[in-house]
Amino acid sequence: KSIVAIVGRPNVGKSSLFNRIIREQKSIVEDIPGVTRDRIYGNAEWLTREFLVIDTGGITLADEIFAKEIKIQAEIAMQEADVIIFALNFKEGLTDQDHMIAKILYKTKKPIILVVNKYDKKGSDNDMFEFMSLGFGNPIMASSTHGIGIGDLLDAVVYQLPKVENTQKDDTPKIAIIGKPNVGKSSLVNSLVGEERMIVSDIAGTTLDSVDTQVQYNNKKYVLIDTAGIRKKGKIYDGIEKYSYLRSLGSISNADIVVLMIDGTQSITDQDTNIGGLAFTEHKPIIIAVNKWDLVKNKEKAILEKEEEIRSYFKYLQYAKIIFISAHDKIRIGKIYDAVDHINEMLKKTIKTSVFNEILNRAQLVNPAPDHNGGRLRIYYGSQVEAYLPTFVMFVNNPHYVHFSYKRFLENQIRLQFGFEGVPITLIFRERK
Ligand code: GDP
Repeated sequence: KSIVAIVGRPNVGKSSLFNRIIREQKSIVEDIPGVTRDRIYGNAEWLTREFLVIDTGGITLADEIFAKEIKIQAEIAMQEADVIIFALNFKEGLTDQDHMIAKILYKTKKPIILVVNKYDKKGSDNDMFEFMSLGFGNPIMASSTHGIGIGDLLDAVVYQLPKVENTQKDDTPKIAIIGKPNVGKSSLVNSLVGEERMIVSDIAGTTLDSVDTQVQYNNKKYVLIDTAGIRKKGKIYDGIEKYSYLRSLGSISNADIVVLMIDGTQSITDQDTNIGGLAFTEHKPIIIAVNKWDLVKNKEKAILEKEEEIRSYFKYLQYAKIIFISAHDKIRIGKIYDAVDHINEMLKKTIKTSVFNEILNRAQLVNPAPDHNGGRLRIYYGSQVEAYLPTFVMFVNNPHYVHFSYKRFLENQIRLQFGFEGVPITLIFRERK
């Protein structure tokens, strides 16, 4: 998915623009414990193109001087985004701070769309001149509170998005390695690349600074996403927590499979669960790699304890496979490739309708649905439908009778019976006429 970033000084109305663009879709993000509530990104769709929007204004720093903060926001946008929306305020006109941002943005080759917000009056072309002096072309005059100009803005954004490649999707799995700083991501990339010393090539990614690396293991190809971003260290904004979410988000959205790394020598923190939550909300197959396991004593007991800790902290990631590794000592690194292969197979797996219905019937016999919303769920039949992730449609007496715990039970039954380890399963309930 492409990324669109909104930059601009405070008080130009970045977040109301942001909300307009994502149309305040309340996503499931809010309801998952451990997932960040502070929204700085959202999914948007316009003219059938889907993209992610980042509100860089949400990335604020305590105690930082304004100039530095603006610089960081603009640089993050330049680094992460495919298209940048530079927001200005009509009522206040151009300020020194706007010029400061413009100066940073001049350095990028990425498309920049100028939007002049808070433009609530009847327009005349003269209103644009001041803003055109920035050299980013004609601005789009908009009012996010009144919903004026938003369609034009989105037209311009979509026009500038990278073209979707229509070439047949090759089935080399794309793997994103995510995790908070210092869990060992770059060590893992180095080990994965070093395995069998068979680097095929570095593929230049869509965004300027992202580089994907193609690797080969047991004669199979894999792509590690955004290896440059993982390896490049020491940027001024490396320490910013929200930035590491964004970084992860970018990689996750481009990946087929996500490897979430945690440090096995430490307890799980909010930062771990927040990043894991991103992978979950983006519906990605996931492998949890517990790293630095070389340092852990009494390993057998520790494995059980760690697994329990993970299962309780990452409740929503029950489907994830857990692997204990040492990226540094290259121990059990191959297991990651094995898990990726397994997930790939699961994604291609089709379940016969007759077998699926047998499982459904048995599940209902063993554990009949509870009363919920004034009725009891009856599932008549179901079948798998064509989709990237395993997806099943079930025809029922009334979809409102589905209790989420019963849905989870069915999910677990299906997972258990068919071995869908590591992949999210989607269940859709439809009323049978
Ligand atoms: P990143 O920020 O997630 O990319 O983490 P790095 O790969 O830079 O690793 C952070 C630190 O942990 C470095 O000092 C690594 O040498 C160390 N480290 C990484 N993996 C392992 C491991 O498996 N075992 C041990 N003992 N140290 C590790």
